Amino acid sequence: MRELKKDVDSHELQMKVLDEKVRAAKAKLATATNGREYELLKKEFDIVSQEQNAFEDTLLTAWNAFEHAQKMLLQKEVTSQESSANFAQTILEKNQKKEELEAALALKNKDRLEKQHGLPEQWITDYERMKRSVSNPVVPLENGSCSACFESLAGHEIAILARKQLSPCGGCFRFLFIQP
Ligand SMILES: [Zn+2]
Repeated sequence: MRELKKDVDSHELQMKVLDEKVRAAKAKLATATNGREYELLKKEFDIVSQEQNAFEDTLLTAWNAFEHAQKMLLQKEVTSQESSANFAQTILEKNQKKEELEAALALKNKDRLEKQHGLPEQWITDYERMKRSVSNPVVPLENGSCSACFESLAGHEIAILARKQLSPCGGCFRFLFIQP
C-alpha cells in the first residue's frame, strides 16, 4: 500500500509539472502578435497538451492500482475479524466442554471412592498399579481360564474365586471374576 501510494504521489507531482507547462504554453499563445507566431506557439501548446493527456492514463492506472489494493486490504481485515470471532467462539465452547468434563470427572471420582469403600487395601493398591500398565486390569474368567493371558485355573482355585468374588490371576496378576 505504501509503495503504491508513493507511486500515486510521484505521478501527481509529474502531472502538476505538466499542468504548469500547459498553462505557460497557453499564456504564451495569448501573446502572439501575428498569424505566423500564433501557428508556432499553437504547435508548442498542442505538444504539451498531448503530453498531458497521455500522462492522465498513467496517473489513472496508478490510482486504480492503489484503490484496488485498498479494497483488498479492507476485505482481508473483514475476513480476519471473522476468523478471530470464530476462534473466540470455539475457545468459549471448548472451555464450557472442559468445565462439563471436569464436573463429570469429579462425580466419577466421588462415585469411585464410595465403590472402593470396604475393599481390601491391598486390592486397591494392586489395582492402581495394574491399571497403569494395562487397559483391562479386571477380566472375567472364560472356560476356566483367565480371558487375558489364558492361564487356566484348577477346580479348587475356581471355587476360591467364586467365594472371594475377585482374585489375582496367577499368570498375569490381573483381577479375575466369574461372570454371573
Ligand atoms: Zn491372567
